Amino acid sequence: MCGNHAADGSPIDHHHGHAPRVFRPTPLPRSRRAFLGDVGKGTLALAVVTPLIAACSSSSDGGAVATAAPTAAPESTEPRPTVGPESGASDIPDADDDAFSDASASPEGAELRWARANLGFVSAYVLARGNSAAIVDTGVEGSASAIGGSLNSLGLNYSDVDHVILTHNHADHAGSIDAVVAEAVNATVYAGEADLGGISQSPITGLRGGEDVFGFEMIATPGHTAGHMCVIDHGAGLLVAGDAIFSEAGGVIEGPERFFADVDQSRESIKMLASLSFNTLLFGHGEPIEDRADTAVAALAASF
Ligand SMILES: [Zn+2]
Ligand SMILES: [Zn+2]
Repeated sequence: MCGNHAADGSPIDHHHGHAPRVFRPTPLPRSRRAFLGDVGKGTLALAVVTPLIAACSSSSDGGAVATAAPTAAPESTEPRPTVGPESGASDIPDADDDAFSDASASPEGAELRWARANLGFVSAYVLARGNSAAIVDTGVEGSASAIGGSLNSLGLNYSDVDHVILTHNHADHAGSIDAVVAEAVNATVYAGEADLGGISQSPITGLRGGEDVFGFEMIATPGHTAGHMCVIDHGAGLLVAGDAIFSEAGGVIEGPERFFADVDQSRESIKMLASLSFNTLLFGHGEPIEDRADTAVAALAASF
């Protein structure tokens, strides 16, 4: 799963020989959620946010009664607008049936759109606002054209890329950084300060966590690597987790301990992520979760 540290070849045996425990999102009851538009088919997806929903999503204990099945995920290779106002609106006391509060919450003033470059066992992501984009992770070597395809799917090109953010320095995430930077000539490159040593490209702006890049908050999440960074858009309610957490069967898992440079530190990072509010969760490995993902992370963190 991560080229730099799968050397021992041992099976995934994280929980005494049993399959790892998967923590899935807690769906909201249908009656509390009203979606407008045709979610997942390219139309603008909007959600009516009530103060009740905002109050529920501000709680990280997943306490909402689960009486409805999760929303079916749309085809993962298609670009789509985010559907994240349940968490994004939690800092807007008077949501007032304003279906456009998600867009207005964005610091850049434009709705966040994203596309996944599914590179097989690993993914990279394009996050865009208007005619400007950020790339998060670059996949293994040879992934630049696939990432270019994801840009195209959002109506953009490499010349529109202003930021390239690496969650960490493993070869399955930073492997195409040179090729991506050669195309994205206008981009500034960022990675966690403690991970800069393992990345060929230079110059790179070192991150310590807390920085604002393109309206995203950079979140220091050490453990998998010392300089691991997650990327969150608070307004859109979208978190790019890198390898801080792994996706499994519609939920989240901690991942095999052998993938982590420091397991205790990683658990502290996951607990910190569990305190955040987000609807959509994008992983370095595995399928995205697009509904109430924060409740799954909270359940995982509570298991430690
Ligand atoms: Zn990885
Ligand atoms: Zn990794």
